[in-house]
Amino acid sequence: MMEIVAVPAFADNYLWLVHDEASGETAVVDPGDAKPVLAEAARRGWTITQVWNTHWHPDHTGGNIAVKEASHARVSGPAKENIPGRDVGLCEGEQLRLGEHVGRVIEVPGHTSGHIALIFDDDKVAFVGDTLFAMGCGRLFEGTAEQMYQSLQRLTGLPPDTRLYCAHEYTLSNARFAAHAMPNDAAIERRLNDVERLRADGKMTVPTTVRQERETNPFVRATDASEFARLRREKDSFRS
Ligand SMILES: [Zn+2]
Repeated sequence: MMEIVAVPAFADNYLWLVHDEASGETAVVDPGDAKPVLAEAARRGWTITQVWNTHWHPDHTGGNIAVKEASHARVSGPAKENIPGRDVGLCEGEQLRLGEHVGRVIEVPGHTSGHIALIFDDDKVAFVGDTLFAMGCGRLFEGTAEQMYQSLQRLTGLPPDTRLYCAHEYTLSNARFAAHAMPNDAAIERRLNDVERLRADGKMTVPTTVRQERETNPFVRATDASEFARLRREKDSFRS
């Protein structure tokens, strides 16, 4: 079994610790800050053996070097981006392992041009970085709307019960935008209510699932790249 633990950092990041009991291996996904992940791993008696990065942004890679120095972890990240301390460059179709768990790499450009996602098909788990958020998606810093639209379609083409681990708690503002962009939509209204309640109680709203995103994410439901582009522009200036 793959145990996945959220470590909150900064204002709204989630750094994910992924532990495999059988092999004793532990990976950290996108350690923007080393301190909280090292502390949480130590508290659980885990040693971080791998770092997996989805993209180069400092709130995802800022702790790479310190984690590596603390535990000699091997750093794997997108081959096409500048990743601090990287040992293994990952491209589309390549694999990585945590014990017996095998993940595959897909390239999901849009937020950054070399952004990757890590998919563990047998575990029905995907680490999606800043590409897809619950009811939203990442901003287009380096890629095009066409690229991001295709990236979201690939991720939500996974089996419906796949859990998607995104890197930020943005769901409430995304849900408000979704209700504005697609008014009178029962599934979106219902999820907005759920998310409001969870956040009022200080609870997390991720991971999400492919099924939930197909139903309630306007960026995923967009029928083509131009509708996606219009929604993305609108969201960039939306104040909830
Ligand atoms: Zn980012």
